[in-house]
Amino acid sequence: DTIGANLDRAVAAWPDREALVDVPTGRRWTYAQFGAAVEELARALAAGGVAKGDRVGIWAVNCPEWVLVQYATARIGAIMVNINPAYRTHEVEYVLKQAGVSLLFASLRHKTSDYRAMAEQVRGDCPGLREIVYFGDPSWEALLGRATPEVSYPELSCDDPINIQYTSGTTGFPKGATLSHHNILNNGYFVGESIAYTEQDRICIPVPFYHCFGMVMGNLAATTHGACMVIPAPSFDPAATLNAVQQERCTSLYGVPTMFIAELNLPDFASYDLSTLRTGIMAGSPCPVEVMKRVVAEMHMEQVSICYGMTETSPVSLQTRIEDDLEHRTATVGRVLPHLEVKVVDPATGVTRPRGAAGELCTRGYSVMLGYWNEPDRTAEVIDAGRWMHTGDLAVMREDGYVEIVGRIKDMIIRGGENIYPREIEEFLYAHPKIRDVQVIGVPHERYGEEVLACVIPGDPADPLTLEELREFCAGRLAHYKIPSRLRILDSFPMTVSGKVRKVELRETYGR
Ligand code: ATP
Ligand code: MG
Repeated sequence: DTIGANLDRAVAAWPDREALVDVPTGRRWTYAQFGAAVEELARALAAGGVAKGDRVGIWAVNCPEWVLVQYATARIGAIMVNINPAYRTHEVEYVLKQAGVSLLFASLRHKTSDYRAMAEQVRGDCPGLREIVYFGDPSWEALLGRATPEVSYPELSCDDPINIQYTSGTTGFPKGATLSHHNILNNGYFVGESIAYTEQDRICIPVPFYHCFGMVMGNLAATTHGACMVIPAPSFDPAATLNAVQQERCTSLYGVPTMFIAELNLPDFASYDLSTLRTGIMAGSPCPVEVMKRVVAEMHMEQVSICYGMTETSPVSLQTRIEDDLEHRTATVGRVLPHLEVKVVDPATGVTRPRGAAGELCTRGYSVMLGYWNEPDRTAEVIDAGRWMHTGDLAVMREDGYVEIVGRIKDMIIRGGENIYPREIEEFLYAHPKIRDVQVIGVPHERYGEEVLACVIPGDPADPLTLEELREFCAGRLAHYKIPSRLRILDSFPMTVSGKVRKVELRETYGR
């Protein structure tokens, strides 16, 4: 199927069920209304000369128009280019040029970001950019006014590129993964299958749409199952998120671990009625067992699922299922999704490692991207001749096929010849009552090559953890070489918009 054909099926099957709710503005669409709004926008785009394969940029925080653009561009075979709403002029200009964007959709403004002012600044330097349309602005109405009843859409194929999604930029500069209908539609469908979505489900999506977590695991998982997409706020806000769950009686809630931590730590957390929640997804970065347990116990998400994936694989390749026991659902990222393959190899030789041994995770199947946009050399570095995507993540496959993510190859610390996985130490330290959040990095050391530094956000800033307390907590319970020899107390960590800690930046700032 193409995304357009699949949406038609959803509209026919569930016309009167709610498809989309925007909590901040109170606007709502049933599937019939949503399908009609997508159709109107698709006609307007086609009438305005947007052709199959043209790149349409979207640089916006979460709002219903974002979702309309996602489905309307897919319907006419245009390639939507997701642009991080945290980007500023220099970065936007790079993406607009690199992807050859001819039409740009943008937010007007949000908090301190004046998107219009920034977009107008770069317009002159991007000769390929013909038009900018702002959401909630007369330019949006003017665009819709172009829709004509008779427009013919181009022939589409499932394997056409329809999306360029940039990676989070956790380890360096983001790369533009080019994805087809087939890639992301199937992935959204199977992610929804793992947590048994039906038209009864209402999914609270506080993660950014610009990232695959929002637009694939959120929107496409919803529309392939007749579920409702609920937008709690334009950008992540823990109170607005819980309020949306309560008000819209959501059955599912998404987030990266730091978002769930922020929600659980709200002073008035106990006052929200979250009893309608049944499931949800935690993904994007290592999901601490302690946080998973609290989500199950205190947020009613008995069927919460962990996903592992990356933008380059549409994104999800491993997921826990709701029938898995709590140990498998907290300590592992589950097992491979249907119709995909994963393997764990020795990064140096490419030979498959035995079960139980750590190595680089590789993925193969329908979800692997077409390639990085206009970057064949970088594509060849990650996708090998056998079509295996090399993830750059270290993993262990258990005997029973469940996979544990051990960390990123780039984050591994080598101290005096011992390999140390920061993830293991972070996981251990989360249990300390004075630690609210923790990141472990390597810092250069004359004798050992590297030593272990723990960056801690304390639970109570007035009573931060000391290095002695930290070392005492670890003594006898962690091997001596893994025990952090240095400690830094911080207020916050440098983050990506998708909510991941930029370890690369922590290393640049503190790792010297
Ligand atoms: P960049 O590639 O630009 O450095 P990124 O890899 O963070 O950024 P994404 O594609 O958004 O960009 O994220 C994929 C990565 O997120 C994976 O390679 C993995 O390291 C991490 N990840 C995703 N899910 C999980 C999970 N459940 N547990 C641990 N790590 C995860
Ligand atoms: Mg990556």
